[in-house]
Parts: sequence; C-alpha cells; structure tokens
Amino acid sequence: MKVLSVASEAVPLVKTGGLADVVGALPAALAGHGVEMTTLLPGYPSVLKAIGRARSVHAWDLLLGVPARLLSGKIDGYPLLVLDAPALYARDGAPYADVAGQDWGDNWQRFSALGRAAADIAGGAMVARGKPRRFDLVHAHDWQAAMAPAYLHFAPFGGEAGRVPSIVTIHNMAFQGWFGAEVFPRLGLPREAWSIDGVEYHGGLGMLKAGLACADAVTTVSPTYAREIRSAAFGMGLEGLIVARGRAVSGILNGIDTGLWDPSRDPTLAAPYEAKKLERRTANKRALEAEFGLEIDEGPLFIVVTRLTWQKGMDVLLEVLDHLVGLGGRLALLGSGDSAIEQALHQAAARHPGRIAVRIGYDEALSHRMQGGGDAILVPSRFEPCGLTQLYGLAYGCVPVVARTGGLADTVIDANPAALAAGVATGVQFDGIHYDAFAAALTRTVDLYNRAEQWRTIQKNAMKCDFSWKASGQAYADLYRALTA
Ligand code: ADP
Repeated sequence: MKVLSVASEAVPLVKTGGLADVVGALPAALAGHGVEMTTLLPGYPSVLKAIGRARSVHAWDLLLGVPARLLSGKIDGYPLLVLDAPALYARDGAPYADVAGQDWGDNWQRFSALGRAAADIAGGAMVARGKPRRFDLVHAHDWQAAMAPAYLHFAPFGGEAGRVPSIVTIHNMAFQGWFGAEVFPRLGLPREAWSIDGVEYHGGLGMLKAGLACADAVTTVSPTYAREIRSAAFGMGLEGLIVARGRAVSGILNGIDTGLWDPSRDPTLAAPYEAKKLERRTANKRALEAEFGLEIDEGPLFIVVTRLTWQKGMDVLLEVLDHLVGLGGRLALLGSGDSAIEQALHQAAARHPGRIAVRIGYDEALSHRMQGGGDAILVPSRFEPCGLTQLYGLAYGCVPVVARTGGLADTVIDANPAALAAGVATGVQFDGIHYDAFAAALTRTVDLYNRAEQWRTIQKNAMKCDFSWKASGQAYADLYRALTA
C-alpha cells in the first residue's frame, strides 16, 4: 500500500515540536506492515539544503497562484517529496513566523498550496515512465496539511474518478489555522466547499476544521485526548464536529524512535547505561550539574524540556519553584517561547543560584543529556495531546511527574499506594494545574526519591515500558487497510 504522509515538519529536516518526531518516525513504523510511506514537506531552505541536488519529478505552472515544482529525495532512507515553491517557502525565520516571531500573513496560501499539491500528487499528477503514480491514501497532519482532504473531496485531481481516501491526525487542537473569508476565492475550490460541511468556520476559512469535516477518518495522538476533545474545555470550538464525526475519530498513541532515544547507545551521554546499571546515571548527573552550574549534591535533580507556553503550565511551574528548592531539589530547565516566562525563569534562577538554572534555546543534544542525568522530569501541561518528553523520561529512567491529562494520563502509572504495592508505578501524576496540586506532587516525588530502593524500582519499571512504534504502527496500518478496503 502506498501512503502519502503530508506535514509541515519532520525530523531530522525541520522541527518545532513533537509533530516532527512523529512524522519523521512514521515511515519506519509502517514499513514492517506492508505500507510504503512517502513524506511530503514544504521546501523550506533547511529542507532544500538537506536534500541537495534533487530530481524534479513534477511542476505546476501555477499552484494557488505561484510556480512550484516537486523534488524527489530521501528522509532517513525513506521516500521524500519536497514542494519547492520559492514564493511561499524561501524565507528566513521559522516555518510559521518571521524572525520577529510574527506569523507569516500568507500562511493560508503557503499551507493550502501544500494541501492542493498533496491532492494532485495522490490523484496521479506525477508521471513516471508514462504512467501516473497514484497513492492509495493521504495521511495529513495538523492544520498545515488539513486542506488536503478538502481538495480530495471537493476538487480531486482529474475529477471524481478514483477518489483517494484520507486521514487527518490532530497533534494539537489549539492550532487550527483560521483565516478571513476573503481568501476563499483564491483557494480554487467550488462554491459548495464554503459550507458547514466544508471549509467554512465562523465566517472564515478553518483549515483544521476543513480536514476534520472532509477526511474519511480523524485520529489524534492518545486515546484520552481523543475523548477530551469531545468537550468544550479541550475541543477549542471544534468539539461539536468531533462528536458529530462519531466513530470516525480515534486515538493512536505516539511512539518514540528507540534508535534515537536509547540510553544504552546514546552518544550524547557521558555514561550510557541500561536498567541493570542505573548507578552509571550518577556520572551523567554530575556532568549535567556542571553544565548548568548547579551545586553538586545527592538531592533530586528535576529537569524541564519544553516550549515555554501556557499550555505547558509554565506559569504554575514558576509558582512552585520556591517549594521545589525548599524540598532540597534543584532544577535544570531547557526551553524557549514566551518572553515573559523566559524573564520570570531568569529571575527565579537569580533568586536561587546553584539550585535553579535556566537555558533558553533549542538544543536537541542537551535534551538527551538532561534525560540521561536528571532524576525526574516535570510536565505540568494544561492539555497534552500525547507528549513525548515524558516518554523519553520513561525510557531514560528520568521519572515523569505529570499532569493527569491526554497522553500523560495514558502513559504514566502513578506511584499511589496500590501501584507501589503491585510494583507497577512508573511516575507521579497530579490533578489540576494549580499550586496546591503541583506542590503536593513534588513533595510526594521527593519522599519517593528519598526511599532509594523504591525509587530504583520506579525507574526500572519506567525503563521497561515499551513505547516504541510497534503497537501504534500496527494500529495505523489497520486503519489504512480499513479505509482502502
Ligand atoms: P509539543 O509538541 O507540544 O512541543 P511534545 O512533548 O509532544 O510537545 O514534543 C516536544 C519535542 O520537542 C520533544 O522531542 C522535546 O524533547 C523537544 N523539545 C522541546 N523543547 C525543546 C528545547 N528547548 N530543546 C530541545 N528539544 C526540545
């Protein structure tokens, strides 16, 4: 089966968050299930640079108003198509915003073009040796790719013949891609697409909404989040549509790339280790303390690796820092995002020299060293579709302390008395993102940490968890087959 996976990010070429890890891992996760996955990405400068001198396999005189061509390359050995449209993607800055952090004003066009291209490609626009190369299914990720199902539904390549089924995966309901109604005439869609069953949403263009309405199936990245988005608190306005889509909506948990995230073979670590040799983690802890300029002691070293946003509960983290230090804890934090949160973190670090240290920026290798040397990772998210950092924490024996929501609820077993007695605990969960709940969870974590034997058991249980792509690869393959049968 040939599947076209469409997204705006994929590791190792372009990444702003967990979406990229997942899109980058899917081809390998599906390969063993008889699925040949080709990834389609926008031709950002970093992507074009990475693929070097690539072959052009298709060209559009005008794709949503701009010239474009399709380049063929490889991503980690798997087939890659790159949409090279310099008018849309050849820019400095981030994938969605300029260097000042302002969203690009033409994001509707940049990502509708991606969806239009995907629909054309899947329908057979690309010709190899005189024959159209069609795909059996399109798998679109998040709002940036979610127009693909709308084009497949309302304006398929070559007309109605051989309609290609599609899936949209929601990696985060908070990002929906909404634009004013004035862009609609420029999308190349028929009038009937401007409806409650099409791309219209609150009087404008709703790109994620369009995908949710038009795709044959909708998935999100954990079973709990799939339930949560049926409510107003998590559905962010789209809960009614999610409920209406009924059984077409399901949750498939993200896996982790165990090739990249394996503490026994991690080249970034001072001392690689496995569950049987947990004492080797101490060398990594010492290295991390030195790297962050933290005092050296035997107390718990907490870590945070995150986007600094409200979603991630960083405001509540700031509130509990004095309590964390009062418990004898230290914190090493790596993150970037909201500048007010960055500033407040710097102030907290200045208040607690040697106990709290902050690194602002994005640093993949450092994030590995932190998981390999920290004792516990804090993830106090208000909502979390799946979350990857707690999965990396589990794999590295860096015990996750998480809010009980979304994928965090699905992947961590709270160290309550019953779970401890049964010997199955893998972390600490707490309910509600506010001071009392988070502070109590920290107190509980430090109590567990101080009982060394119990702590080691939790670490070992965590490292035994299998969050590889094995089960989820199978689940996606089953869904693809059901939709193409
Ligand atoms: P989200 O996608 O909402 O940001 P996830 O937990 O699903 O959250 O994925 C975040 C990914 O980005 C993880 O791979 C995490 O390690 C990585 N990450 C986040 N912030 C940083 C940072 N400042 N430096 C390095 N890696 C980071």
